[in-house]
Amino acid sequence: MSIRPDEISSLIKNKIEKYESTLEVSDIGTVIEVGDGIARIYGLRKAMASELIEFDDGHGTVGMVLNLEEDNVGAVILGEYKYIKEGMTVKTTGKIASVPVGDSLIGRVINPIGQAIDGKGPMHCENSRPIERIAPGIVKRKSVHQAMQTGITAIDTLTPIGRGQRELIIGDRQTGKTAIAIDTILNQKKTDVICIYVAIGQKTSSVAQITKTLEEYGALDYTIIVAAAANETAPLQFLAPFAGTSIAEEFMEQGKHVLIIYDDLTRHAWAYRAMSLLLKRPPGREAYPGDVFYLHSRLLERSAKLSDELGGGSITSLPIIETQAGDVSAYIPTNVISITDGQIFLDSDLFNAGIRPAINAGISVSRVGGAAQTAAIKSVAGKLRLDLAQFRELEAFAQFASDLDKATQDQLKRGEKLREVLKQPQYKPLSVAQQYIILFAGNNGLLDDINICKMYEFKENLFSYMTSNLVEIELKLNRGDKLDSEEKKTLHSEIEKFKESIIGFKNG
Ligand code: ATP
Ligand code: MG
Repeated sequence: MSIRPDEISSLIKNKIEKYESTLEVSDIGTVIEVGDGIARIYGLRKAMASELIEFDDGHGTVGMVLNLEEDNVGAVILGEYKYIKEGMTVKTTGKIASVPVGDSLIGRVINPIGQAIDGKGPMHCENSRPIERIAPGIVKRKSVHQAMQTGITAIDTLTPIGRGQRELIIGDRQTGKTAIAIDTILNQKKTDVICIYVAIGQKTSSVAQITKTLEEYGALDYTIIVAAAANETAPLQFLAPFAGTSIAEEFMEQGKHVLIIYDDLTRHAWAYRAMSLLLKRPPGREAYPGDVFYLHSRLLERSAKLSDELGGGSITSLPIIETQAGDVSAYIPTNVISITDGQIFLDSDLFNAGIRPAINAGISVSRVGGAAQTAAIKSVAGKLRLDLAQFRELEAFAQFASDLDKATQDQLKRGEKLREVLKQPQYKPLSVAQQYIILFAGNNGLLDDINICKMYEFKENLFSYMTSNLVEIELKLNRGDKLDSEEKKTLHSEIEKFKESIIGFKNG
């Protein structure tokens, strides 16, 4: 048998080539520039956008590729960047940034990359999901038709929110934006809704305070907190709402209902701006990058009400935006207003005048929630809206006129009573029946002789009267059903009976 050297050498060459190709597990590059949480890397020719990369700094620090340029890639560093030096090697991981998802996150406080930060030890999540995902299309959705009760009378009656809706909470600093979000979470206690609170760029102490409040009211049992506080790097703050939404999507696809709060998207836009400027992306209006609209639209589009075939789950989102001196026409506020299905506008003048929640009913709207309002609330909300609108007009006018006719005076008084009824302290969400009975009384003139200063106590007493004497009606209303005319008559006479039984609540 003759040995053919060329055949053998070609076989060996072949083997060597194959051997090398199985050995090459990742792309290796070198850090050429590092600072402010950003690294530029030379040599990662096969890196993908949003791919995670690992720095060889001895601490396992990871980064995320964001800029794919001709001769280098720009990446943000997730975590500590002080150990990363120029010339250090970097390798790709082939994984897209993702976050652990599942039931074991409930009751926990995590950071945007899924690590527990509440000191309760690691979580055991079997699944994870990429943090960015394309929003469900039209065919996969169903129109919003179930109510998401906030427990805040002014919102549930005037700007109702439906499951799957995106309702913006907008207002200056310290106007009660977070308070509305927290009360809404508290009100989901006896429902099947899972809540996710995403804290972006807030003080660590505020996040701790909110966690404590939720725990005190037993709301942490169904809530997940995703936090990237002000001391975290811009990339982590940028990731937070996306991570929260991915966690929400897992539940939605299991047919569950989720409420997600982004507190707040102004700081999210700031983080994105900081990151983009460091990555040397071209700045646009107010120095935000050109795609800041797309940033928020692709995030908020992921809130949806899925069709019955897909389980009928939903994500309702309440993004929060902070304005400067009530200016809703600034860049980020107008963007988010145009993306969402309505807004609840909080006014600092109202807040300082003691009207809390400080909702400006004139410019607050809900574009889809009306279809989802419970029949009970709907039957009292129409008249309330009209009365309040007339009251606002008359009030402005009455400041100049000295002698008003009786009808106008009555209308002004009625309006004042209604405005008083809509005031609500924090951490006291009301049930549908409670909201109904007080508005029913207001609409039927049964509050006209109640002293405004005593209104709060009157309400509390009326609620306990209802619980002990009107059990059937309360149950029916809490199911969301309308009362028939017979039941309305009973309710009317019962409220009158209650008013006779109490003393000290009437005017002079
Ligand atoms: P920031 O701009 O700092 O985030 P914010 O707009 O989120 O503020 P909150 O922190 O919710 O406002 O509320 C500001 C203050 O107003 C808090 O001290 C809170 O307790 C109080 N507050 C909010 N809502 C009410 C209410 N309905 N009744 C009484 N006090 C309230
Ligand atoms: Mg706040």
